[in-house]
Amino acid sequence: MSHPTVDRARRRVFEEHAPADRELLEALAALPSAKVAELLALANEVREATCGSGAHVEVLYNAKKGGCSEDCHFCSQSARFATDVEPQQLSSIEGFLEGARDAHRRGASEFCMVVAVRGPSRSLLERVARATRLIKEELPLRVAVSLGILREEQMPTLVEAGVDKVNHNLETSRRYFPSVCTTHTFDERWETCRRVKRYGLELCCGGIIGMGETREDRVDFLVSLAELEPEEVPVNFLNPRPGTPFQDRSLVDPVEALRFVAMARLAMPHALIRFAGGREITLRGLQDLGMLSGASGLVLGNYLTTEGRGDEEDFGMLARVGFEVMA
Ligand code: SF4
Repeated sequence: MSHPTVDRARRRVFEEHAPADRELLEALAALPSAKVAELLALANEVREATCGSGAHVEVLYNAKKGGCSEDCHFCSQSARFATDVEPQQLSSIEGFLEGARDAHRRGASEFCMVVAVRGPSRSLLERVARATRLIKEELPLRVAVSLGILREEQMPTLVEAGVDKVNHNLETSRRYFPSVCTTHTFDERWETCRRVKRYGLELCCGGIIGMGETREDRVDFLVSLAELEPEEVPVNFLNPRPGTPFQDRSLVDPVEALRFVAMARLAMPHALIRFAGGREITLRGLQDLGMLSGASGLVLGNYLTTEGRGDEEDFGMLARVGFEVMA
């Protein structure tokens, strides 16, 4: 017999056809560790019912590394911290194209261009827009961008260039956000996310688990994410970077990491839940189980400032656990 909370979650999703609300998420967050396996199995069933067995694979391209004015405490690309990241200028158009060709060769269906800035300048935005047009002309890739805080007047440039999706993470709960970043606010991030939706672009919005947030923060974070209705939710686990204020944080307990992924699936049953940075170091041998806990995609290593494992291992894992890689 399953745990009553898992039964309730099952009824909520499969009979009432509704996502998990705050009350249910709180109950799932408090589910005894010994019962988490039941939650993972349910999240996997929900993923199969809502998303099928297709795995979405993405490659990130760090188009402007380091030197960022902001102080996100997890990020080694902030100019405020003494880290090992060497700042680099914005990539050339050819650099963007090469990055996209490489992503395509590696079997990705989506290519995300990321820049380490608070928000894009006009020239940066124009170069990214031009790169997007050229990539879409040449390759069958979906194009995403991660450009920081976007202003209203910048949105049409992205729409006209053919950008499919914009990544902008909430990172954590509204309450905990000031402990993660002091140079911009949760509300600024929230507004950018709303803007992306208003302009009809897909929203990719997630965050990082393991930055010192409480269990309640994780629930609040999921409730906020669900309210934004993102098409994609990248789930990262903190990989503490030397030189950042979070360098001494402990890794997330793997069971709690998997519990969060499963809760994300129940809160947003139809979203693409994507395993992103920190999965190797956090889950180690449990990555296969991770893909069977509600996730429906992954970011191939390397991430922006950290390495992942090899592509072959990731594609091998997807095949092993019954996923078909989406073209
Ligand atoms: S997360 Fe983004 S905005 Fe924050 S410091 Fe890093 S690059 Fe800058």
